[in-house]
Amino acid sequence: MSAGVGAEGSGPPGKDADRRIGRRALLVGGLAAAVGTGVLARDELAKLWWRMPGVEKARVQGAVDFRGARWLAASTGNFRWADRPDDYGVDMVVIHVTQGSLASAVQVFQDPAHRAAAHYIVGKDGGITQMIRELDVAYHAGNRGYNERSVGIEHEGFVDRPQDFTAAMYASSARLTAGICRRYGIPVDREHIIGHVEVPGTDHTDPGEHWDWDRYLRLVREAHAATA
Ligand SMILES: [Zn+2]
Repeated sequence: MSAGVGAEGSGPPGKDADRRIGRRALLVGGLAAAVGTGVLARDELAKLWWRMPGVEKARVQGAVDFRGARWLAASTGNFRWADRPDDYGVDMVVIHVTQGSLASAVQVFQDPAHRAAAHYIVGKDGGITQMIRELDVAYHAGNRGYNERSVGIEHEGFVDRPQDFTAAMYASSARLTAGICRRYGIPVDREHIIGHVEVPGTDHTDPGEHWDWDRYLRLVREAHAATA
């Protein structure tokens, strides 16, 4: 499960919010100008923005980072807007277990008072829900530095119920993690794909003793090799 209130330890919210408004205003203004000229294709424009210092990447409503994922937006109280991997390098994947149903996890991630959420939730049926873009810093590890450098993946179920970790879940999550490793050049090993329990300072035990790491890493390696 994700970390609790205040665990992320982020700075004053007002400062970030002001900066975001400034960037977004610039983005909207730029888009309006481009539409007016009708010269640049939209994706070319996005690439140009990427290269402009201090300007965040273009965000498309409902876009996902993993093909086939369902998008459900988390509350903005549960993550911090960022511009990864340009502002923070991404070199880890953190594996979680929800300690509840998929629906209950979605519900708390949409609750601004929860102050925690992961980028993804993988269901028992293998379905993938993305709730926070990978470029943003999700509050999932209970450790600011680890949040900034990692992508968090929740898995529907309970740590003491091994039957919750289905073959469909392992396979689907492994493809997701392989894609993340591919995108950011993350090595596929247990140094870089870790459990929440392994995050320094945490009191969380997920994914627990029934999570089959050998099986999972094997599946991630296979999926990673298939995308080479
Ligand atoms: Zn967790």
